[in-house]
Amino acid sequence: MSEVFPSLAELHALNPKHQAAYPDPVAVDEVVKELSVRPPLVFAGECDDLRGKLAQVAQRKGFVLQGGDCAETFEGVTAANVSNKLRVLLAMAVVLTYAAQVPVVKIGRLAGQYAKPRSKDTETRGGITLPVYKGDAVNGFAFTPEARTPDPKRLLDVYNASAATLNLTRAFVTGGFAHLAQIHSWNSDWAKTSGVGTRWEELAGEIERALAFMVACGMDDESMRKVDFFASHEALLLEYEHALTRIDSRTAKPYNVSGHFVWIGERTRQLDGAHVEMLRHVQNPIGIKLGPTTTGADALALADALDPDHQPGRISFITRMGAKKIRELLPPVIEQVEASGREVVWICDPMHGNTFEAANGYKTRDFNDVMDEVNGFFDVHDQLGTWPGGVHIELTGDDVTECVGGADALAETDLGDRYESLCDPRLNRNQSLELAFLVSQRLTD
Ligand code: PEP
Ligand code: MN
Repeated sequence: MSEVFPSLAELHALNPKHQAAYPDPVAVDEVVKELSVRPPLVFAGECDDLRGKLAQVAQRKGFVLQGGDCAETFEGVTAANVSNKLRVLLAMAVVLTYAAQVPVVKIGRLAGQYAKPRSKDTETRGGITLPVYKGDAVNGFAFTPEARTPDPKRLLDVYNASAATLNLTRAFVTGGFAHLAQIHSWNSDWAKTSGVGTRWEELAGEIERALAFMVACGMDDESMRKVDFFASHEALLLEYEHALTRIDSRTAKPYNVSGHFVWIGERTRQLDGAHVEMLRHVQNPIGIKLGPTTTGADALALADALDPDHQPGRISFITRMGAKKIRELLPPVIEQVEASGREVVWICDPMHGNTFEAANGYKTRDFNDVMDEVNGFFDVHDQLGTWPGGVHIELTGDDVTECVGGADALAETDLGDRYESLCDPRLNRNQSLELAFLVSQRLTD
């Protein structure tokens, strides 16, 4: 891995895709200057720690649970919103840990997930065409020329929002809330009548009894009071990611200190592109999204570019093939990568290959398709004798109505009730927990 971190100008010379078209370059320079002296949001040592945990996953000794919003919003940085998300992720992790008896590496899609690649640059409504909404990091959602004009100062807001989210997250996971003895209180407001709520109650009761037994035996371990929780987002906007890449004083190597784990999206993973060039140099564990057009040779070339030294835990491939295609398209990719001797983490994103427009115009996903892709992922790994290393889910801790299906059988006509996502549809709390129960079943089969 090269030690010379490229300049922002060098990265821009590679014509990066899906960037913000800022009207005023001087204002951009000022923001970059300010961001580059702000303190790190995460520490390099924490990134190393996560890389070590992912290396264990690659060796079949763990499972990754990665989840959160498609796009965070500044308005969503409230105690209720962040804690609900953490609550559902911790509950899912408990289901997986208890049922499958494997360590679960918990990674939020949060504290930095504010920029979105979009399929079109503009949006037209009522004869008026404006720049498309590219996430709160770039512009505002309101359909006005003012809101939709990209504003670099928003990158400072991303930093502040991420710092606040991380601060709350750290307090939650180390400050007593994540104590297993509190497990009943995480979802005390759960509808006890729903099938998922009942299963959760049963599991929580079992865990409480097991815990009481252990405490009675004199065991009261630190690991039951705290959990490790990591932050991740798509490394999309070069200004932000570059300004928050720093040379670590311990190792003299560059780390992206805006999140523990960053990934390269399906649309920006060109081998000779700016995103691969930027992340090639940093030491963080890196995710790479792989869509249905990916060949084994593509995946291998990306791994070689981003991880020439075969560093354990460095590469996670996040596959998003679509429920109908995964059984056919995933095996050759896995086979070619594994045949090279590489040990990577295979993570299933069952969301992005399964999006469709409902008859009433809402962008949605069907819980059955999501589960079908997860099942396909497990089937493929079973057949090949490889390790299904984790899942990557767009979810929220609230009772939104964005994806159809699941235990509560949400219908397309329910989507309007509480559709809050500004980008892709997320699983709600019940659907998320239901998914965790189904995954835990596959892990124990
Ligand atoms: C996303 O994760 O929100 C996303 C845009 O995914 P992908 O790059 O896989 O399309
Ligand atoms: Mn998305």
